[in-house]
Amino acid sequence: MIEQGDFANGTSSATSQLVHGGFRYLLKRDIELVKNARREREILRRIAPNLVKSIPLALLCYKGDPYPLTGMQLAAHYYNCLSKTDETEKSIAIRDVRKIRHLVGPIATNSLKGCVLLWDSMVNDARLTLATLKDAHQHGAIVANYVRFLDFVRKPETANSENGIYRIVAEDVISGKRFEISARKIVSATGPWSDHIWRKDPSYDGTSRLLTENAKGIHLLLPRYGKEDDNAYGLITFTQVNKQQRRNPRVIFILPGAHNTSIVGTTETTPEEELASVRPSANEVTYLLSETQRIFPEKRLNKDTIIGAYAGTRPLIAVNQHSHGFAKTDFVSREHLITESLSGIMYLYGGKLTTHRQMAEETGNHLAAFLKVPRACKTATHPLPSAIGEASGADAERLVKRYGAGYRTIQKFITEDAGLGELVTSSLPFTKAELLYAYWGEMAITLEDVLWRRTRIGWTPGQGVDIAPQIAQFLGEKNNWNDTRIAAEVEAYRERIRWLNYNL
Ligand SMILES: Cc1cc2nc3c(=O)[nH]c(=O)nc-3n(C[C@H](O)[C@H](O)[C@H](O)COP(=O)(O)OP(=O)(O)OC[C@H]3O[C@@H](n4cnc5c(N)ncnc54)[C@H](O)[C@@H]3O)c2cc1C
Repeated sequence: MIEQGDFANGTSSATSQLVHGGFRYLLKRDIELVKNARREREILRRIAPNLVKSIPLALLCYKGDPYPLTGMQLAAHYYNCLSKTDETEKSIAIRDVRKIRHLVGPIATNSLKGCVLLWDSMVNDARLTLATLKDAHQHGAIVANYVRFLDFVRKPETANSENGIYRIVAEDVISGKRFEISARKIVSATGPWSDHIWRKDPSYDGTSRLLTENAKGIHLLLPRYGKEDDNAYGLITFTQVNKQQRRNPRVIFILPGAHNTSIVGTTETTPEEELASVRPSANEVTYLLSETQRIFPEKRLNKDTIIGAYAGTRPLIAVNQHSHGFAKTDFVSREHLITESLSGIMYLYGGKLTTHRQMAEETGNHLAAFLKVPRACKTATHPLPSAIGEASGADAERLVKRYGAGYRTIQKFITEDAGLGELVTSSLPFTKAELLYAYWGEMAITLEDVLWRRTRIGWTPGQGVDIAPQIAQFLGEKNNWNDTRIAAEVEAYRERIRWLNYNL
């Protein structure tokens, strides 16, 4: 498995952090899709219990919203019934406005008719991706970050034959060195970049496989509104729309994120920039900020309130099963597509973070049939080692929640060198041992990998920009970086944050 940047540097670290059935698809009567995603949520809760946490979502109903409260209540009840949820996950309607405010925080009550509680789950998307890769690695997969696919080596005599070997040219992004990789089958699972790979496919027919319209979505990170503990509620509200838009209303999520943030999202716009390098635009930021202000009128929100923001691109499928240029097309669901081109290259398109396991299972089944190897996929039942485990004591519990079985390695670091048990800074719950673990145990390469994805220090006020030199110095000493490398790492991280925040 090669990845051109850090693991999860693309869409998979830019989501709403929900593992969910997609309540709004239910409103569009896409029952199968919702049922399927609800089932996957159950599986992920089982195999990654430390990462995938249930969360009550309060669906706020205001006068003028496209659906009445009673309709919402029925839909929420049905939503819950679509999977085997536990007893505590009951959907209820609350009409007492004071009670709603008590539960969810100081929301606008003017014309509030009530709310409906439904249940989904939240996850740290980057860490779920990492946990999955670590599990794959433990089962024998070779995974490499910072290795980019460049092109297929066109060898007609071998490609396209059942027993042929495919060869690709790849590049070590850090050293610039190029080399070939051969395999009996190649799968492109490159999300919004899929068309880049497809364009290099020997059977490329000039068509696009992905839609760009409405593909981009951004999120704002704001200080937490509502409860500052693990029992915080998420909010869903409909945006204000005119009558014509009522049939396709947009929703806004305000969700409790890591490090006591509120994650506010999302948008659906057509990216003006290159698909893969999207960042929040000024219009998108203003839109989300004003919608949040509408829900929390007592807060004084302006751009200075924003801690940070991020953007991602949805890999939306543009093909249908009869599209030419593809030898075999299995239309798996409306949301994702697993297909094979005439040259025998497999592509995975679309889907959600929530359904990634199912997509992988289906792809694995297809590969096993092709390679004629027996297969008994266990991913629905076998827990991910870095997302399970228990420990006693506040510090140990925090580590287990985040690193699962990896917690033992971190403890070993501390046993061998007590200094590594110190916090990186008194204001953040991270020990030096965890930073080292990001490098030595989780293949982080750059400072950004550590601050943005492994630890999410980039989501805390100040986004870790001030402590970046201190962290780089520490990591530099442990990893034999010279002063030039340390300075370059700090500058690259600062530049990344500046670039992301350009329109804030
Ligand atoms: C705004 C937004 C919010 C979302 N919220 C949710 C949510 O809350 N819950 C949910 O279930 N889903 C959500 N989704 C959907 C979900 O994020 C995506 O479906 C999922 O992350 C896609 O994963 P992927 O692996 O296909 O793409 P990506 O995560 O983008 O991964 C593709 C990878 O391919 C790599 N790559 C590209 N080209 C090459 C190359 N030449 N060589 C090597 N590697 C390459 C990229 O670097 C990238 O890391 C959201 C999507 C968006 C845009």
